[in-house]
Amino acid sequence: MPTVLGLEGSANKVGAGVIRDGRVLSNQRATFVTPPGQGFAPGPVSRHHRQKLLGLVEAALNEAGLRGADIDGVAFTKGPGMGAPLAVVAAVARTLAQLWGRPLVAVNHCVGHIEMGRLLGGARDPLVLYVSGGNTQVIAFSRRRYRIFGETLDVAVGNCLDRVARLLKISNDPSPGYNVEQMAKRGKRLLELPYVVKGMDVSFSGLLSHVEETAFAMLVEVTERAMALCRSPELLLVGGVGCNGRLQEMLEVMCRARGARLCASDDRFCVDNGAMIAQAGWEMLRSGQITEIRDSGITQRYRTDEVEVTWRD
Ligand code: MG
Repeated sequence: MPTVLGLEGSANKVGAGVIRDGRVLSNQRATFVTPPGQGFAPGPVSRHHRQKLLGLVEAALNEAGLRGADIDGVAFTKGPGMGAPLAVVAAVARTLAQLWGRPLVAVNHCVGHIEMGRLLGGARDPLVLYVSGGNTQVIAFSRRRYRIFGETLDVAVGNCLDRVARLLKISNDPSPGYNVEQMAKRGKRLLELPYVVKGMDVSFSGLLSHVEETAFAMLVEVTERAMALCRSPELLLVGGVGCNGRLQEMLEVMCRARGARLCASDDRFCVDNGAMIAQAGWEMLRSGQITEIRDSGITQRYRTDEVEVTWRD
């Protein structure tokens, strides 16, 4: 019964979680929150992670009722993500692995989301919509890879919403996306054009609805096309934007019309976390994919389909 510690820190969240054979024993996380109007830069994010990570590891072990000696493998996010924060987490993972004499497992962040979603949603071979601050991908498993069927050509959908929040000085606490969603709910009208000036007044709620609804409609369209192509009976929604209630509603309608099942989750597991890295690490460890210290460097660019999925056929 392998027990795996997973460490995540590719963006503004840092987490440590423990998985044992499909059970989440712990999942501890801290979020670096910037003041309204500001995004997050690699330097301050990595300082935040450096301050928090050891405490999170300790808390994750305590929550699981385990000691270091009980851990069979240390999984960490190799990429994609922001360089400096990834480097902080990788250094801690290398140190713990050597301290405990356990194998290291370098995990692709996107694959972490997918494996956690498969575990929780009980989905065997779903089509995957991965939407977050850094990624927007439509993914299906084929010939030992998670193949990317569609993706954003420029910024990720979450980044687009974050920027709207930044522009309008909307609070980043608990997250810009959450606050955009709450404001969009209160919006009364869906506007044709995102430019609303009335005399000396301006209206923003309609603009938010416009941005969000339009972005989500685009995602639903490409996801439905991929599901038709792959004849998928189930759709797995992962990534931070996957918490969005409106996006879930829109996908639910599309899935129902196709007779398909939507597997969505909540912010404990949609938002970046350590347990998802532990879960992907558990699968990798089981199939013999371990990482030598000399190969344990991080990489800001690391596509989902670069990973050979040796734990599925
Ligand atoms: Mg993510």
